[in-house]
Amino acid sequence: MKNCQQITQIASDAQERPLSTGEKFQLHTHIMMCKGCRAFYKNTDVLSKMMKTLKKVEGQENQKGGE
Ligand SMILES: [Zn+2]
Repeated sequence: MKNCQQITQIASDAQERPLSTGEKFQLHTHIMMCKGCRAFYKNTDVLSKMMKTLKKVEGQENQKGGE
């Protein structure tokens, strides 16, 4: 079982690169049980979605719809 520090590291990595199956498993089993890491993961997720949305708006300002 990984500790919280490792899990938050994986959660951050998840925003930068695709996780391996093992990492995903560790992350998801941990955040199911750990409130702190779940909150952290949610935050990184929200942040990354915001960043992606911003990038999308910047990169595709002339295009509508899609996806
Ligand atoms: Zn934790």
